[in-house]
This record gives sequence, structure tokens and C-alpha cells, in this order.
Amino acid sequence: MNCAMCNIHACKNNLKNAPQNCPSLDGDIEKIKEIYKTEKNYTIAKISTKLSTEYGRTRIEETIDFAKQCGYKKIGLAFCSALANEAKIIDKIFTYNDFETESIICKVGGISKDTVNLSDTKPMCNPITQAKFLNKAKTDFNVVVGLCVGHDSLFIKYSEAPVTVLAVKDRVLAHNPLGAVYLADGFYRNKLFPPKNQF
Ligand code: SF4
Repeated sequence: MNCAMCNIHACKNNLKNAPQNCPSLDGDIEKIKEIYKTEKNYTIAKISTKLSTEYGRTRIEETIDFAKQCGYKKIGLAFCSALANEAKIIDKIFTYNDFETESIICKVGGISKDTVNLSDTKPMCNPITQAKFLNKAKTDFNVVVGLCVGHDSLFIKYSEAPVTVLAVKDRVLAHNPLGAVYLADGFYRNKLFPPKNQF
């Protein structure tokens, strides 16, 4: 699969023009379509597909609309301690919009970095506990706010409720990682495509 390098995008128009090795031509897609029809996936797929064609709303507005239309009542916020102020505002926004919230910070438990054999006195992030405690609270839908790369992977792995990401952490670019991508041909070129050693 190499969709990232495809310039045809026949999947958006007409599959007759699909390039060789196009994954759209794989017979498994018909079988996979059936998975959307299972109870848990159907609502998520239908509402997200409907909302994806409606423009003009911010990500948080879309998240609220999605959660309402899916019938979710209890939202779990899994947030990074560096974004505690933002989490407070986000919590207020969800509660004002008639959701019940449960929120849990990344440093919950204050567990030591010894847990993963790192010598550092500061507590480590604890995304598995974040997920397990939101599972225990029986949240309908979990929202990630700025968890670190990898910690978010563990959170998503252990969350029983569906997860969406409201904010991704980027300590340099005001939590806008695409800033580096947009500058990949400019100021960030040497950082993203560092010269390779030539021997
Ligand atoms: S699915 Fe096929 S047509 Fe669509 S981007 Fe990938 S390779 Fe291109």
C-alpha cells in the first residue's frame, strides 16, 4: 500500500482508474464493509460520516455534535498535566453542553519512573490507569487532551469506550504538529530530513 504517494485518488472518484496495487481493488473490502453493520460500529460510522460532510465547525464543536448524535451521556477526559488549564475549560464546555464528565490527569497515582527502570525522581505518566479508571467509571466516550506520543497509544489500547483525540501535544508548535509539516520544505527541512552520513 502506498496511498500517500498516489496522485490519482481514484477511490474518491472512479475506481476504473485505480493504479496497480491499489488497496481499493482488494476483495477483502467487501467483507470489511460488513463490520460497519455491527451494532457498536454502525452508529459511530454513520454519525461521523454524516458530520464529515458538514463544514464550518471547530474540532470541539464537532466532538460535541458527534457525542450528542451518538447518544453518549458520560464523557471521559484523559488529559496531560501540562494542559490542566485547558482541561478545566474543556470540562466546563462539556458540562455546559449537558454531558456528565469524568476527568483524569496523566500523572494519576504519582507512580515512579522506576516502574519502567528509568532513574528520574519525577512521577511518570500513567495512561493505563487513566484508561482503566475511565472504564471503571463507565464513560461512553473518551476524549484525549494532549497525551504524549506513546502514552496516547497505551491509553487508546486500554480504553473500553471509543476514543477521540481533541488535542495532540506539540511542545514547540502550540499543539499544532502540522506546523512542522507545512514548513517541511522550509525552516524545518534540516530537522525533518537531516543529512545522512555518507561513507
Ligand atoms: S486507494 Fe488506490 S486510488 Fe486511492 S489513494 Fe490509495 S492507491 Fe490511490
